Amino acid sequence: MKYYSFSKGGFNFEDRFAPARESSRLAFLPEIAIVPLSTETGARSYPVVSVGQHIEEGMLIARGQGSGSANIHSPIPGKLLKMIKWEPAAPFISDAFVIRLEGSFKKLGKPETLHEWTELNRFEIETLINSNGVIEMDGLGRPLCDIFSRYDAARESITLLVRCIFDDPWFAADYTLCKERTEAVVEGCLITAKAAGADRIVFAVSSNEKELCNLLLKAVKQNEAAAQFNISAFFTGSRYPQHSNFEVASVFSRYEKSENLPAGKTIILGPATMAAVYDAVVMRIPPLERYVAVGGSAVKHPAVIKARIGSRLRDLFMECGGFRCKPESAAASAPPLTATGSPLLGRAVSLDEPLLKTSRGVFALAPKKREAAMKTFSAVFPIVKKIFTLMSENVCINCGECRNVCPAKLDPEDIYKRIKNGRHDDTMLPLITRCLGCGCCEASCPSKLPLCAAIVRSTFKGAACAG
Ligand code: SF4
Ligand code: SF4
Repeated sequence: MKYYSFSKGGFNFEDRFAPARESSRLAFLPEIAIVPLSTETGARSYPVVSVGQHIEEGMLIARGQGSGSANIHSPIPGKLLKMIKWEPAAPFISDAFVIRLEGSFKKLGKPETLHEWTELNRFEIETLINSNGVIEMDGLGRPLCDIFSRYDAARESITLLVRCIFDDPWFAADYTLCKERTEAVVEGCLITAKAAGADRIVFAVSSNEKELCNLLLKAVKQNEAAAQFNISAFFTGSRYPQHSNFEVASVFSRYEKSENLPAGKTIILGPATMAAVYDAVVMRIPPLERYVAVGGSAVKHPAVIKARIGSRLRDLFMECGGFRCKPESAAASAPPLTATGSPLLGRAVSLDEPLLKTSRGVFALAPKKREAAMKTFSAVFPIVKKIFTLMSENVCINCGECRNVCPAKLDPEDIYKRIKNGRHDDTMLPLITRCLGCGCCEASCPSKLPLCAAIVRSTFKGAACAG
Protein backbone atom coordinates (compact mmCIF):
# COMPACT_ATOMS: atom_id res chain seq x y z
CA MET A 1 0.00 0.00 0.00
CA LYS A 2 1.20 3.53 -0.82
CA TYR A 3 2.90 5.66 1.86
CA TYR A 4 2.88 9.47 2.03
CA SER A 5 4.37 11.76 4.66
CA PHE A 6 5.11 15.45 5.04
CA SER A 7 8.62 16.43 4.09
CA LYS A 8 10.04 18.64 6.80
CA GLY A 9 9.72 19.12 10.54
CA GLY A 10 7.62 17.36 13.16
CA PHE A 11 8.85 14.84 15.69
CA ASN A 12 8.09 11.46 17.21
CA PHE A 13 5.83 12.36 20.10
CA GLU A 14 6.01 9.96 23.05
CA ASP A 15 4.51 10.42 26.51
CA ARG A 16 4.83 7.71 29.16
CA PHE A 17 2.01 9.29 31.15
CA ALA A 18 -0.55 8.88 28.37
CA PRO A 19 -2.88 5.89 28.94
CA ALA A 20 -2.27 2.54 27.28
CA ARG A 21 -4.50 1.92 24.24
CA GLU A 22 -6.38 -1.22 23.07
CA SER A 23 -9.12 -1.48 25.70
CA SER A 24 -11.48 0.83 27.54
CA ARG A 25 -13.59 0.56 30.63
CA LEU A 26 -16.94 2.02 31.45
CA ALA A 27 -16.94 4.88 33.94
CA PHE A 28 -19.43 5.03 36.80
CA LEU A 29 -22.38 7.27 36.12
CA PRO A 30 -21.80 10.81 37.32
CA GLU A 31 -23.94 12.06 40.22
CA ILE A 32 -23.89 15.48 38.57
CA ALA A 33 -23.67 16.33 34.86
CA ILE A 34 -22.90 19.83 33.58
CA VAL A 35 -24.18 20.38 30.06
CA PRO A 36 -23.23 23.62 28.25
CA LEU A 37 -25.99 25.02 26.04
CA SER A 38 -23.67 25.74 23.15
CA THR A 39 -21.42 23.84 20.82
CA GLU A 40 -17.68 24.13 21.32
CA THR A 41 -17.63 26.80 18.60
CA GLY A 42 -19.63 29.09 20.90
CA ALA A 43 -22.91 28.97 18.94
CA ARG A 44 -25.80 28.85 21.42
CA SER A 45 -28.75 26.49 21.49
CA TYR A 46 -32.17 27.47 22.83
CA PRO A 47 -33.24 25.68 26.09
CA VAL A 48 -36.50 23.73 25.83
CA VAL A 49 -36.73 22.51 29.46
CA SER A 50 -36.85 24.48 32.69
CA VAL A 51 -35.15 24.35 36.07
CA GLY A 52 -36.81 21.89 38.48
CA GLN A 53 -38.06 19.66 35.66
CA HIS A 54 -37.38 15.90 35.63
CA ILE A 55 -35.71 14.83 32.42
CA GLU A 56 -35.01 11.51 30.78
CA GLU A 57 -31.74 10.18 29.46
CA GLY A 58 -31.29 11.33 25.85
CA MET A 59 -34.12 13.89 26.06
CA LEU A 60 -33.75 17.07 24.02
CA ILE A 61 -32.87 19.90 26.44
CA ALA A 62 -31.76 22.62 24.00
CA ARG A 63 -32.55 23.11 20.33
CA GLY A 64 -30.01 24.25 17.76
CA GLN A 65 -30.89 27.54 16.16
CA GLY A 66 -29.06 28.36 12.98
CA SER A 67 -25.54 27.93 11.73
CA GLY A 68 -23.00 26.55 14.20
CA SER A 69 -25.46 25.41 16.85
CA ALA A 70 -26.74 21.88 17.45
CA ASN A 71 -29.43 20.03 19.38
CA ILE A 72 -28.29 19.12 22.88
CA HIS A 73 -29.56 16.10 24.83
CA SER A 74 -29.39 15.11 28.47
CA PRO A 75 -26.61 12.52 29.04
CA ILE A 76 -28.27 11.22 32.23
CA PRO A 77 -31.80 10.96 33.63
CA GLY A 78 -32.43 13.28 36.55
CA LYS A 79 -33.60 16.59 37.87
CA LEU A 80 -32.53 19.86 36.30
CA LEU A 81 -31.09 21.61 39.36
CA LYS A 82 -30.03 24.99 38.00
CA MET A 83 -28.58 27.01 35.17
CA ILE A 84 -25.01 28.31 35.59
CA LYS A 85 -22.52 30.29 33.52
CA TRP A 86 -19.91 28.12 31.86
CA GLU A 87 -16.73 30.03 31.12
CA PRO A 88 -14.26 27.90 29.21
CA ALA A 89 -10.88 29.24 28.15
CA ALA A 90 -12.37 29.89 24.72
CA PRO A 91 -13.45 33.49 24.13
CA PHE A 92 -17.12 32.93 24.91
CA ILE A 93 -19.40 32.33 27.88
CA SER A 94 -22.31 29.93 27.69
CA ASP A 95 -25.21 28.96 29.94
CA ALA A 96 -25.01 25.38 31.21
CA PHE A 97 -27.55 23.08 32.85
CA VAL A 98 -26.61 21.24 36.05
CA ILE A 99 -28.43 17.88 36.16
CA ARG A 100 -28.56 15.61 39.24
CA LEU A 101 -28.76 11.87 38.52
CA GLU A 102 -32.19 10.40 39.32
CA GLY A 103 -34.48 7.78 37.76
CA SER A 104 -33.80 4.97 35.34
CA PHE A 105 -31.89 4.61 32.09
CA LYS A 106 -33.69 4.18 28.80
CA LYS A 107 -30.96 4.35 26.16
CA LEU A 108 -27.41 3.19 26.85
CA GLY A 109 -26.92 -0.27 28.32
CA LYS A 110 -30.33 -1.48 27.03
CA PRO A 111 -30.69 -4.11 24.25
CA GLU A 112 -29.89 -2.42 20.96
CA THR A 113 -32.55 -1.86 18.30
CA LEU A 114 -30.80 -1.47 14.97
CA HIS A 115 -32.51 0.55 12.24
CA GLU A 116 -31.95 -0.11 8.54
CA TRP A 117 -30.57 2.99 6.80
CA THR A 118 -29.75 1.92 3.26
CA GLU A 119 -33.29 2.68 2.03
CA LEU A 120 -33.19 6.23 3.46
CA ASN A 121 -32.28 9.06 1.11
CA ARG A 122 -29.45 11.44 2.00
CA PHE A 123 -31.80 14.13 3.30
CA GLU A 124 -33.55 11.69 5.66
CA ILE A 125 -30.13 10.62 6.98
CA GLU A 126 -29.11 14.25 7.38
CA THR A 127 -32.27 14.91 9.40
CA LEU A 128 -31.40 12.05 11.79
CA ILE A 129 -27.84 13.35 12.19
CA ASN A 130 -29.13 16.86 12.79
CA SER A 131 -31.90 15.96 15.22
CA ASN A 132 -29.49 13.85 17.28
CA GLY A 133 -27.06 16.78 17.58
CA VAL A 134 -24.04 15.10 15.97
CA ILE A 135 -21.06 17.44 15.73
CA GLU A 136 -17.46 16.98 14.64
CA MET A 137 -16.45 14.95 17.72
CA ASP A 138 -12.73 14.89 16.86
CA GLY A 139 -12.31 18.41 15.59
CA LEU A 140 -13.59 21.89 16.22
CA GLY A 141 -17.09 20.79 17.21
CA ARG A 142 -18.93 22.15 14.16
CA PRO A 143 -22.33 20.54 13.51
CA LEU A 144 -21.91 17.89 10.86
CA CYS A 145 -24.78 19.17 8.74
CA ASP A 146 -23.12 22.61 8.58
CA ILE A 147 -20.06 20.91 7.12
CA PHE A 148 -22.12 18.97 4.55
CA SER A 149 -23.92 22.15 3.45
CA ARG A 150 -20.65 23.61 2.16
CA TYR A 151 -20.43 20.95 -0.55
CA ASP A 152 -22.57 20.43 -3.62
CA ALA A 153 -22.63 16.78 -4.64
CA ALA A 154 -24.54 17.59 -7.86
CA ARG A 155 -21.67 19.74 -9.15
CA GLU A 156 -18.52 18.19 -7.71
CA SER A 157 -17.05 14.85 -6.74
CA ILE A 158 -16.75 14.55 -2.96
CA THR A 159 -14.37 12.30 -1.04
CA LEU A 160 -14.81 11.44 2.64
CA LEU A 161 -11.27 11.25 4.00
CA VAL A 162 -11.27 9.37 7.32
CA ARG A 163 -8.35 10.36 9.50
CA CYS A 164 -7.06 7.35 11.46
CA ILE A 165 -3.71 8.90 12.34
CA PHE A 166 -2.31 8.39 15.82
CA ASP A 167 0.82 10.52 15.89
CA ASP A 168 -0.09 11.83 19.36
CA PRO A 169 -0.25 9.32 22.26
CA TRP A 170 -3.16 11.37 23.61
CA PHE A 171 -5.28 10.13 20.69
CA ALA A 172 -5.41 6.80 22.57
CA ALA A 173 -9.20 7.12 22.94
CA ASP A 174 -9.77 7.35 19.18
CA TYR A 175 -7.49 4.36 18.61
CA THR A 176 -9.30 2.27 21.23
CA LEU A 177 -12.65 3.27 19.74
CA CYS A 178 -11.46 2.12 16.30
CA LYS A 179 -10.38 -1.25 17.71
CA GLU A 180 -13.47 -1.87 19.85
CA ARG A 181 -16.11 -0.54 17.43
CA THR A 182 -14.52 -1.15 14.03
CA GLU A 183 -17.79 -2.20 12.33
CA ALA A 184 -19.68 0.81 13.75
CA VAL A 185 -16.92 3.19 12.62
CA VAL A 186 -16.92 1.70 9.10
CA GLU A 187 -20.73 1.74 8.83
CA GLY A 188 -20.67 5.34 10.15
CA CYS A 189 -18.34 6.18 7.25
CA LEU A 190 -20.79 4.69 4.73
CA ILE A 191 -23.72 6.60 6.26
CA THR A 192 -21.74 9.85 6.40
CA ALA A 193 -20.64 9.46 2.79
CA LYS A 194 -24.26 8.97 1.70
CA ALA A 195 -25.45 11.99 3.72
CA ALA A 196 -22.68 14.20 2.32
CA GLY A 197 -23.20 12.96 -1.26
CA ALA A 198 -19.64 11.57 -1.34
CA ASP A 199 -18.85 8.88 -3.89
CA ARG A 200 -15.46 7.94 -2.46
CA ILE A 201 -14.19 6.99 1.01
CA VAL A 202 -10.47 6.96 1.72
CA PHE A 203 -8.89 5.89 5.02
CA ALA A 204 -5.66 7.73 5.89
CA VAL A 205 -3.90 5.46 8.39
CA SER A 206 -0.59 5.94 10.25
CA SER A 207 2.07 3.67 8.77
CA ASN A 208 2.68 2.03 12.15
CA GLU A 209 -0.99 0.94 12.40
CA LYS A 210 -1.06 -1.77 9.70
CA GLU A 211 -3.14 -4.13 11.84
CA LEU A 212 -5.79 -1.46 12.38
CA CYS A 213 -5.87 -0.72 8.65
CA ASN A 214 -6.49 -4.42 7.94
CA LEU A 215 -9.33 -4.45 10.48
CA LEU A 216 -10.99 -1.44 8.83
CA LEU A 217 -10.69 -2.93 5.33
CA LYS A 218 -12.00 -6.29 6.55
CA ALA A 219 -15.07 -4.53 8.02
CA VAL A 220 -15.55 -2.76 4.66
CA LYS A 221 -15.51 -6.11 2.82
CA GLN A 222 -18.10 -7.55 5.20
CA ASN A 223 -20.54 -4.66 4.76
CA GLU A 224 -22.84 -5.02 1.73
CA ALA A 225 -23.58 -1.27 1.62
CA ALA A 226 -19.89 -0.61 0.96
CA ALA A 227 -20.37 -1.68 -2.69
CA GLN A 228 -22.02 1.72 -3.41
CA PHE A 229 -18.71 3.56 -2.87
CA ASN A 230 -15.13 3.57 -4.07
CA ILE A 231 -13.20 2.72 -0.93
CA SER A 232 -9.44 2.65 -0.50
CA ALA A 233 -6.74 3.35 2.07
CA PHE A 234 -3.21 4.72 2.15
CA PHE A 235 -0.55 5.04 4.82
CA THR A 236 0.68 8.34 6.18
CA GLY A 237 3.73 9.17 8.24
CA SER A 238 3.41 8.77 11.99
CA ARG A 239 5.45 11.82 12.93
CA TYR A 240 3.51 14.51 14.82
CA PRO A 241 1.61 16.63 13.49
CA GLN A 242 0.68 14.33 10.59
CA HIS A 243 -2.93 14.29 11.86
CA SER A 244 -3.46 18.04 11.27
CA ASN A 245 -6.01 18.71 8.55
CA PHE A 246 -3.43 20.70 6.60
CA GLU A 247 -0.91 17.83 6.51
CA VAL A 248 -3.56 15.15 5.84
CA ALA A 249 -5.01 17.18 2.97
CA SER A 250 -1.54 17.77 1.59
CA VAL A 251 -0.54 14.07 1.56
CA PHE A 252 -3.98 13.13 0.22
CA SER A 253 -3.52 15.41 -2.80
CA ARG A 254 -0.31 13.49 -3.61
CA TYR A 255 -2.19 10.20 -3.22
CA GLU A 256 -4.96 11.52 -5.52
CA LYS A 257 -2.42 12.41 -8.21
CA SER A 258 -0.59 9.11 -8.04
CA GLU A 259 -3.89 7.17 -8.26
CA ASN A 260 -5.30 9.45 -11.00
CA LEU A 261 -8.40 10.13 -8.92
CA PRO A 262 -10.84 12.71 -10.34
CA ALA A 263 -10.41 16.19 -8.88
CA GLY A 264 -13.01 17.19 -6.32
CA LYS A 265 -13.64 18.28 -2.77
CA THR A 266 -12.61 16.50 0.43
CA ILE A 267 -14.35 16.27 3.80
CA ILE A 268 -11.92 15.24 6.56
CA LEU A 269 -13.43 13.61 9.66
CA GLY A 270 -12.24 11.21 12.37
CA PRO A 271 -13.43 7.90 13.86
CA ALA A 272 -15.27 9.40 16.90
CA THR A 273 -17.52 11.36 14.53
CA MET A 274 -18.12 8.26 12.41
CA ALA A 275 -19.18 6.26 15.49
CA ALA A 276 -21.52 9.11 16.56
CA VAL A 277 -23.14 9.07 13.11
CA TYR A 278 -23.68 5.30 13.39
CA ASP A 279 -25.29 5.74 16.83
CA ALA A 280 -27.55 8.56 15.57
CA VAL A 281 -28.77 6.79 12.43
CA VAL A 282 -28.64 3.05 13.22
CA MET A 283 -29.33 3.14 16.96
CA ARG A 284 -31.22 6.49 17.00
CA ILE A 285 -29.19 7.64 20.03
CA PRO A 286 -27.60 11.10 20.34
CA PRO A 287 -23.99 11.37 21.60
CA LEU A 288 -24.41 10.65 25.33
CA GLU A 289 -20.95 9.28 26.09
CA ARG A 290 -17.51 9.25 24.52
CA TYR A 291 -14.15 7.53 24.74
CA VAL A 292 -11.66 9.73 26.57
CA ALA A 293 -7.98 9.28 27.48
CA VAL A 294 -7.38 10.22 31.13
CA GLY A 295 -3.84 10.49 32.49
CA GLY A 296 -0.82 12.70 33.05
CA SER A 297 2.06 12.55 35.51
CA ALA A 298 -0.18 13.50 38.48
CA VAL A 299 -2.69 10.68 37.87
CA LYS A 300 -2.34 7.28 39.55
CA HIS A 301 -3.67 4.92 36.87
CA PRO A 302 -4.05 6.51 33.40
CA ALA A 303 -6.73 4.75 31.31
CA VAL A 304 -9.05 5.08 28.35
CA ILE A 305 -12.58 5.24 29.73
CA LYS A 306 -16.06 5.53 28.30
CA ALA A 307 -17.70 8.36 30.19
CA ARG A 308 -20.92 10.33 29.99
CA ILE A 309 -20.75 13.73 28.33
CA GLY A 310 -21.10 16.33 31.10
CA SER A 311 -19.17 14.29 33.72
CA ARG A 312 -16.93 16.57 35.77
CA LEU A 313 -13.22 16.04 35.22
CA ARG A 314 -12.72 15.43 38.96
CA ASP A 315 -14.97 12.34 38.59
CA LEU A 316 -12.93 11.09 35.62
CA PHE A 317 -9.68 11.42 37.59
CA MET A 318 -11.27 9.51 40.50
CA GLU A 319 -12.10 6.74 37.99
CA CYS A 320 -8.36 6.50 37.41
CA GLY A 321 -7.44 6.17 41.08
CA GLY A 322 -7.19 9.89 41.82
CA PHE A 323 -3.98 11.91 42.03
CA ARG A 324 -0.50 10.75 43.05
CA CYS A 325 0.26 14.34 44.05
CA LYS A 326 -1.41 17.72 43.85
CA PRO A 327 -1.49 18.67 40.16
CA GLU A 328 0.38 21.69 38.90
CA SER A 329 -1.37 25.01 39.54
CA ALA A 330 -0.91 28.54 38.26
CA ALA A 331 0.08 29.90 41.70
CA ALA A 332 0.73 28.45 45.15
CA SER A 333 -2.71 29.43 46.43
CA ALA A 334 -4.58 28.67 43.18
CA PRO A 335 -6.65 25.51 42.68
CA PRO A 336 -5.06 22.65 40.74
CA LEU A 337 -5.22 22.95 36.99
CA THR A 338 -6.01 20.20 34.57
CA ALA A 339 -6.24 20.42 30.83
CA THR A 340 -8.14 18.93 27.96
CA GLY A 341 -6.71 17.88 24.61
CA SER A 342 -3.09 16.87 24.61
CA PRO A 343 -0.10 18.34 26.49
CA LEU A 344 1.01 20.05 23.26
CA LEU A 345 -2.33 21.66 22.46
CA GLY A 346 -4.43 21.46 25.62
CA ARG A 347 -6.13 24.29 27.41
CA ALA A 348 -6.05 24.69 31.19
CA VAL A 349 -9.36 24.04 32.93
CA SER A 350 -10.67 23.54 36.46
CA LEU A 351 -11.58 20.17 37.97
CA ASP A 352 -15.27 21.10 37.65
CA GLU A 353 -15.05 21.49 33.87
CA PRO A 354 -17.43 19.06 32.14
CA LEU A 355 -16.44 16.44 29.60
CA LEU A 356 -17.49 17.83 26.21
CA LYS A 357 -18.43 15.98 23.03
CA THR A 358 -15.03 17.01 21.63
CA SER A 359 -12.87 16.12 24.70
CA ARG A 360 -10.64 13.28 23.50
CA GLY A 361 -8.17 13.55 26.41
CA VAL A 362 -7.92 15.08 29.89
CA PHE A 363 -4.75 15.20 31.90
CA ALA A 364 -3.20 16.58 35.07
CA LEU A 365 0.51 17.18 35.40
CA ALA A 366 2.65 16.87 38.52
CA PRO A 367 4.57 20.08 39.34
CA LYS A 368 8.14 19.96 38.06
CA LYS A 369 10.42 19.03 40.97
CA ARG A 370 12.78 21.98 40.62
CA GLU A 371 9.94 24.50 40.44
CA ALA A 372 8.05 22.93 43.35
CA ALA A 373 11.17 23.15 45.54
CA MET A 374 11.83 26.73 44.44
CA LYS A 375 8.26 27.75 45.29
CA THR A 376 8.54 26.21 48.77
CA PHE A 377 11.89 27.89 49.54
CA SER A 378 10.85 31.19 47.97
CA ALA A 379 8.19 31.59 50.61
CA VAL A 380 10.88 31.51 53.34
CA PHE A 381 14.04 32.96 51.75
CA PRO A 382 13.62 36.15 49.62
CA ILE A 383 17.00 35.57 47.91
CA VAL A 384 15.77 32.22 46.57
CA LYS A 385 12.73 34.03 45.19
CA LYS A 386 15.03 36.46 43.37
CA ILE A 387 17.14 33.66 41.88
CA PHE A 388 14.00 31.75 40.91
CA THR A 389 12.62 34.83 39.14
CA LEU A 390 15.86 35.25 37.18
CA MET A 391 15.91 31.56 36.24
CA SER A 392 12.28 31.77 35.13
CA GLU A 393 13.05 34.51 32.63
CA ASN A 394 14.07 32.06 29.95
CA VAL A 395 16.04 33.39 27.02
CA CYS A 396 16.57 32.09 23.51
CA ILE A 397 19.94 30.38 23.09
CA ASN A 398 19.69 30.39 19.28
CA CYS A 399 19.89 26.62 19.03
CA GLY A 400 17.62 26.55 15.94
CA GLU A 401 15.64 23.52 17.11
CA CYS A 402 12.27 25.33 16.63
CA ARG A 403 13.13 25.90 12.93
CA ASN A 404 14.10 22.24 12.49
CA VAL A 405 10.79 20.89 13.75
CA CYS A 406 8.40 23.45 12.23
CA PRO A 407 6.38 21.61 9.54
CA ALA A 408 5.21 24.94 8.07
CA LYS A 409 8.84 25.92 7.33
CA LEU A 410 8.57 29.02 9.53
CA ASP A 411 11.16 30.61 11.80
CA PRO A 412 9.29 30.51 15.14
CA GLU A 413 12.18 32.16 17.00
CA ASP A 414 12.14 35.23 14.73
CA ILE A 415 8.33 35.53 14.77
CA TYR A 416 8.25 35.17 18.55
CA LYS A 417 10.89 37.86 19.04
CA ARG A 418 9.07 40.23 16.69
CA ILE A 419 5.81 39.73 18.57
CA LYS A 420 7.52 40.13 21.95
CA ASN A 421 9.24 43.36 20.87
CA GLY A 422 6.02 44.84 19.49
CA ARG A 423 7.12 44.57 15.84
CA HIS A 424 3.79 42.99 14.81
CA ASP A 425 3.29 44.60 11.38
CA ASP A 426 1.56 43.64 8.10
CA THR A 427 4.53 41.55 6.92
CA MET A 428 3.84 39.18 9.80
CA LEU A 429 0.33 38.22 8.71
CA PRO A 430 1.31 35.93 5.78
CA LEU A 431 3.79 34.20 8.10
CA ILE A 432 1.61 33.64 11.13
CA THR A 433 -1.38 32.50 9.08
CA ARG A 434 0.82 29.63 7.81
CA CYS A 435 1.27 28.45 11.41
CA LEU A 436 -0.59 25.16 12.10
CA GLY A 437 -0.65 25.81 15.85
CA CYS A 438 0.85 22.33 16.27
CA GLY A 439 3.12 23.18 19.22
CA CYS A 440 6.21 21.38 17.80
CA CYS A 441 8.37 24.52 18.24
CA GLU A 442 7.36 25.03 21.86
CA ALA A 443 7.78 21.35 22.76
CA SER A 444 11.31 21.26 21.37
CA CYS A 445 12.53 24.63 22.72
CA PRO A 446 15.13 23.97 25.46
CA SER A 447 14.38 27.41 26.94
CA LYS A 448 10.67 26.55 27.17
CA LEU A 449 9.65 29.77 25.44
CA PRO A 450 5.88 30.03 24.73
CA LEU A 451 6.46 30.16 20.97
CA CYS A 452 3.29 28.48 19.71
CA ALA A 453 1.01 30.22 22.23
CA ALA A 454 2.39 33.66 21.25
CA ILE A 455 2.07 32.97 17.52
CA VAL A 456 -1.45 31.53 17.75
CA ARG A 457 -2.60 34.48 19.89
CA SER A 458 -1.11 36.90 17.38
CA THR A 459 -2.96 35.08 14.58
CA PHE A 460 -6.19 36.30 16.18
CA LYS A 461 -4.74 39.83 16.48
CA GLY A 462 -3.55 39.76 12.89
CA ALA A 463 -6.92 38.51 11.66
CA ALA A 464 -8.64 41.25 13.63
CA CYS A 465 -6.31 43.88 12.09
CA ALA A 466 -6.82 42.48 8.62
CA GLY A 467 -10.61 42.37 9.12
S1 SF4 B 1 5.48 27.96 14.25
FE1 SF4 B 1 3.42 27.07 14.14
S2 SF4 B 1 3.57 25.47 12.58
FE2 SF4 B 1 5.66 25.99 13.19
S3 SF4 B 1 6.13 24.49 14.82
FE3 SF4 B 1 5.38 26.34 15.82
S4 SF4 B 1 3.18 25.97 16.09
FE4 SF4 B 1 3.89 24.46 14.57
S1 SF4 C 1 14.26 26.43 20.07
FE1 SF4 C 1 14.00 28.06 21.63
S2 SF4 C 1 16.09 28.51 22.26
FE2 SF4 C 1 16.27 27.36 20.34
S3 SF4 C 1 16.29 28.95 18.70
FE3 SF4 C 1 14.17 28.38 18.96
S4 SF4 C 1 13.38 29.87 20.45
FE4 SF4 C 1 15.60 29.94 20.61
